[in-house]
Amino acid sequence: MDNTTILIQDLVKRYDKAETLALKGLNFHVERGEVFGYLGPNGAGKTTTIRIMAGLSRPTGGSCRILGKHTHANPALYNHLGVVFEESNLYERLSGWENLRFFAKLHGIPTTRARALLEQYGLEKAAKKPVNTYSKGMKRRLLICRALLHDPEILIMDEPTSGLDPTSASVIHRAINEFRQQGKTIFLSTHDMAEADSLCDRVAFINGGEIAALDRPQILKRRHGEPALIIEILPNTQDLEALQEAIPPDRITWHDESLQVRLPLDQVELGNLIDLVRTHGEILTIHSQEASLGQVFRDVTGAHLHSD
Ligand code: ADP
Repeated sequence: MDNTTILIQDLVKRYDKAETLALKGLNFHVERGEVFGYLGPNGAGKTTTIRIMAGLSRPTGGSCRILGKHTHANPALYNHLGVVFEESNLYERLSGWENLRFFAKLHGIPTTRARALLEQYGLEKAAKKPVNTYSKGMKRRLLICRALLHDPEILIMDEPTSGLDPTSASVIHRAINEFRQQGKTIFLSTHDMAEADSLCDRVAFINGGEIAALDRPQILKRRHGEPALIIEILPNTQDLEALQEAIPPDRITWHDESLQVRLPLDQVELGNLIDLVRTHGEILTIHSQEASLGQVFRDVTGAHLHSD
């Protein structure tokens, strides 16, 4: 059986009158049961891709197929697809329960399913209150309930945890892990590199409408990241110049009185460098730092993360 659920081939998108292409010929696929991360700086083309996947926008060239069908021409695909957009498109004056009931009726789904989802996502107490009284985290959970009403096998999520407090974010992380255990496919666009690292089987980095890298997080980190030893020292003031001459400036970060020196772990000279740092000050702390997806992001997109 073909395990591909989402297949993107030579996908191009040009918005009316735009000089540059928003998508410049994307190629990738997502497999059944996979959590696939979609990462990239603002303006990279993530939302454009998701809108095409959801059948809300037509490709200018190439194709986007889900379960073998072109997304722009197959409304029936919605039976298999749940989409959670970053923007809330809930009926704000209706209650959470009324929002779900409306969609359940529209799709011929028993309302008992809506009730079960509200309970599962901790919204049963707020169910009767209008959505405009909900926090951002509650609205996001309600959006997920709505996307899950018809029990889709593929879930597309656009920045599902952006701007959420850690508790709401962890509810959503748990939910994503549960979907995976149920064998569902999840396409997850996110700015949160730690989230992508812990949840995703594979991640794609998109930049300027092109895929800049795509692989398992572990492999990308090995290829692009740099595990390092971070040494914090209280420098001898008379030795500062010598220290600055010995260590490249981009490896030194100043804090009030102390400074941090970042030494790549794979350096042949590591032992000598530690000795050198030690001769120029008193060592306060030493810890190792793993290669991170944030480093991969900076390396492959040249952009800075919001958290930088
Ligand atoms: P992301 O979601 O990664 O931030 P988008 O897909 O929103 O990126 O945008 C990709 C590119 O397409 C950007 O250059 C953006 O300015 C442009 N773009 C997005 N939507 C429109 C639109 N409706 N009309 C014209 N240009 C657009």
